[in-house]
Parts: sequence; C-alpha cells; structure tokens
Amino acid sequence: MNHFVIRCLDCGYEAPYSPSSAECPRCSSQWREARYDLERVAKIWQRELACRPFELWRYRELLPVRNLNPTLTLGEGGTPLIPAVNLGMMLGCPNIYIKDERQGPTSSFKDRQAAVTIAALKEAGITEMVVASTGNVAISYSAYAARAGIKLWAFVTSLVPAVKMREIALYGSQVIKVTGSYDQAKQVAAEFARQRNLYLDRGARTIPSVEAMKTIAYEIAEQLATLRAPQPKAAFGQNNHRSPGWLSPDWYIQAISGGMGPLGIAKGFSELQQMGFIDRQPAMALIQAEGCAPMVHAWQQGKNTADPVTSPFTHIETLATGDPGRTYTLLHNLLKQHGGVFESVSDEEAFRAMHVLAKMEGISVEPATGVAFAGLFKLIRNGVIKSTDVVVVNCSGHTLPAEPFLLGENWASSIVFPARTETPQPEGLLAALNRVAPARFPRVVIADDSEEARRLIRRILQSQGNFTLFEAKDGRETLEICRREMPDLLILDLMMPEMDGFAVLDALRHENQTANIPVIVSTAKELTADEKRRLLGQIQALMQKGDFLSDEFLEEVRSLLNLE
Ligand SMILES: *Cc1c(COP(=O)(O)O)cnc(C)c1O
Ligand SMILES: [Zn+2]
Repeated sequence: MNHFVIRCLDCGYEAPYSPSSAECPRCSSQWREARYDLERVAKIWQRELACRPFELWRYRELLPVRNLNPTLTLGEGGTPLIPAVNLGMMLGCPNIYIKDERQGPTSSFKDRQAAVTIAALKEAGITEMVVASTGNVAISYSAYAARAGIKLWAFVTSLVPAVKMREIALYGSQVIKVTGSYDQAKQVAAEFARQRNLYLDRGARTIPSVEAMKTIAYEIAEQLATLRAPQPKAAFGQNNHRSPGWLSPDWYIQAISGGMGPLGIAKGFSELQQMGFIDRQPAMALIQAEGCAPMVHAWQQGKNTADPVTSPFTHIETLATGDPGRTYTLLHNLLKQHGGVFESVSDEEAFRAMHVLAKMEGISVEPATGVAFAGLFKLIRNGVIKSTDVVVVNCSGHTLPAEPFLLGENWASSIVFPARTETPQPEGLLAALNRVAPARFPRVVIADDSEEARRLIRRILQSQGNFTLFEAKDGRETLEICRREMPDLLILDLMMPEMDGFAVLDALRHENQTANIPVIVSTAKELTADEKRRLLGQIQALMQKGDFLSDEFLEEVRSLLNLE
C-alpha cells in the first residue's frame, strides 16, 4: 500500500488521489502534483533497491499506484544507458550517453506513461478512455489497455503515418482520424469524452503520466553511477548512513512536443536531490522541430508564456504540438532555475542526424528522436555544451515510418535470377553479383597513430559507400603501403611518431610513382602559418579533427575519388 497525496500547484490544497477527479476540490485548478514522504522512501530504497530487478516498478514507492498489478506489465522501464563512443569522437565530446527508450514494449518512452497510467486507471475501476495522440501515446496506451481490458478511443491527426495507425487498430483500439492539427484533434477528443462522460487523458495534467516519466531520471542517475564509477560501488545496505552516490549528468537532452517528458524527469531529479541521492540537477536541452517551435520562440523572446503555432509545418508529426499551454511556463521556470535551453532544428537536420546515429552507433530511431540528436550536434557546435560535459540523450522512439523521407533512391540492390525455363547459369548469377558490387572499389589509406581515430574514419567511409581500406599506424608504414597498393586517396595525420605527416608528404611527392596520390590531411591542432606554407600545393584538403561530421569531409572524399 502506497502513501501519497495530490497537491494543487495553485492553492497548495492537498487531497487523496482519484483519477476520475481532474480538478482541485478547493480552487478547480487542473495543475496538481503527487507528493510523497521522501525521507521514508529514501530509507526503504537504501535498504531494498539493490535486491529489486532493474525495471520501472523497482521505484514503486514513488509512483501513484496503490498496489502492484503484475498482470499488466510488459517489461517496461529498465532500458540501457549506452555510451556513444563513436559519436563522442566525431563531436569531440567523449561523455555522451544514449538512454535507449526504443527498448520499451512498444518502442518509445511513452511505454512508461502508459504502464503507470493504465495501472492507476485499472485500479480505479475505469473501463473506457479517450486519448488524443500524435501516434506513440496511442500505440502504447493501446497495448496496455488491451491487457487491462480498457476500451480506448484514439483520436489521431490524419498526418500520423499509416503504419502507426494500423498498429493502434491492431491492439483493438478505435482509431478516429481527425483532418486538422493535433491541437484540433485534442479539442474533438475532449468534446467526445464530455458528451459520453468518458475518462479523458489530459496529457501533462495526468498525474500518473508525469510520475511515470520520473523513472527515466532515477534510472539515469543509477546507471551513470555504475558506468562512471572508478571502482565498483559498495552495494546498498553496506553504507546505510551515507548517500548512495548516484550521479546527475550535466545535460539531459530530449526532443519535445507537449513537454511532459522533461516535466516528469525534472521532478524525478528533484526528488533524488531531496532524498540526498544526487547533489545537483542537470541542465535540460529541449529541442523542437523548427516548423512547430512555440516554446523556442517564447524562450528566445524571454517570455514565460508561449504563443501557439496554429499551422505546424513539419514532417515530424510526433512533435506537432502547436500549443504547449502551461507546460511551457513550468519548463521555462525549471530551466531558469537549473540551467538549460530550448533550441530548434530543421526536419532536414533531424533526418541527417538519424543517418549519423544509425551509421555510427547502430541505432535506428524515428525522426522525432533525430531532432534530439540534431539538437545535440548544434549545441556542441555552438559551444553551449562543453567537451567535458556529461550528456544523456533520450533516444525516445524507434523508426518505422521514416523510410520514405530518409533513404533516397539507391538504398538496396536487387538481383534477378534467370527465368526457370533457362538452364541455370552460375556465371549469370556471378555477373549479377558483380553489378551489385564491382570487383574494384576505390582504395583509401588511413594513416593515423591513434587506433580510435583510424576506426572512426574507417566507420565514416564504410557508412558512405564501398571502399577498400588500408590502415597505417606510422609514417614508415604509410609510405610502404602507398608504394605497394597505389591508393586512390590517402588520409594523412600530421602528428605521427618517428616520421611525421610532413615527412611522408615530402617522400611521396619525390617519387614518380606516388607523386600524384591525392591527400587529405587531418590534424588535431591549429597549424602555424609556416606549417600551412609547407602543405601548400602538396595536398588536396585540410580537415580539422572533430570536424569529420561536416559534409565537407565526405564531399571532399567523393570528389577526389570521382564518385557521383
Ligand atoms: C512523445 C514523444 C516525444 C515528445 O515528448 P514530450 O515529452 O511529450 O514532449 C519525443 N519523441 C518521441 C519518440 C515521442 O514519442
Ligand atoms: Zn487548488
């Protein structure tokens, strides 16, 4: 049995929780939050947490559900926190972590919201509900509603990708397509619920939903402590009287639409601080799609209320909340208090970030999540996020509907077998295979004494096309390989032991055979005027390390190899 009360944000009145009463009994405000006896919970967690499985309900004392209902769970929460080593190297920011919320039961972080909210509704005996959604909330609610035996009416805008609509319907929910904006879909849903006297989901004013999001903060703080600990931590219980030493990141980054995620996550970090588990709260970087960025506009004008965007203009439907309402004001105040920024990125930047993330980290995300990563790139580039900062990005959802926008023309090759009537000809198949993959690929030598740097460049090239790659770890080896393999391109680090890049260049240019090999120099440091003079006329391009993300590098490679 759980102990908590609901406190009104406007008048402070405290009342017991009941999902069917949406307002403060004293002042009718719909903005209220759950309060717990944090001191008591801190003691329980110190004692018991280490023995509980790593999933959402391990934090049950701080969730507004009175009794656990194991029959509803689908394995929500407990997602991994993944170090983004390759991205970190590309961006010159080595402490980036990805909170992989794609690994929830329906592949987005809405699963936490649905798991806790549906459990609370079930507990209150509610059997039918109405929700308006840009897709993922309805999918996730539908899955949990199916388990709970709750009938769901899902109002979605007609721009929600068809795959997502079909999935909502598959779970047995009634899908109502609204031709109009998301804000209009919310109005229609509210009217429908009022007429039929059904429970209506009120987004960020739904107490169990905000509370559910907190668990992301708890998990991050626990996981960072393990990942960043110099030595294995003493288990809970062995240091009863000291703080368990969980860690806050410097930054929490998320793509936002209505803003419920960061609202809950900020509450989570705040509770951890009050319990003495962490000593400070992270700054938050909240990223919107440029075509629907009411919060960013308000933030840039220094305002604490946002003007609604009535006609969102973005392909990224998941993020198309035009009117954030009071959530913006609450987030604005949080960011003023603990640091952070609202920032926007274009759809194109988001799609590009999706590519980078998939190719560099093996993580395929939906466009809304691409927005968060594009925001990360932008904030590092602008110096808002420092190279030493510890950054956690919410990898909020998996890709399904992305492909039509993302993958241009030639993303697959096809092989057509000869017709059955003909005698099978193995040579025919070989020829077909050769068309798919020609026998000779452009040959590129990567010369760098750092193994990590070689791996990064290799990965960038591999993700862009087919190359035969050679690696050299010092100047002598570079010369040897160049003489032997006659590459189409050399990517040369200047600072190498024994024989540096300058000496390699001199040697190459003095031999007829190797004199014309194109060279891209990569350098970690700013070159002096004298060094620049030495390179003049000897090389085709000069690239700053940490800048490999720029299109410039890839364009340079392509043009030197006469690709496209
Ligand atoms: C809902 C959602 C968001 C936006 O989250 P809010 O916190 O509600 O603004 C971002 N990405 C994905 C994949 C989502 O499903
Ligand atoms: Zn009140």
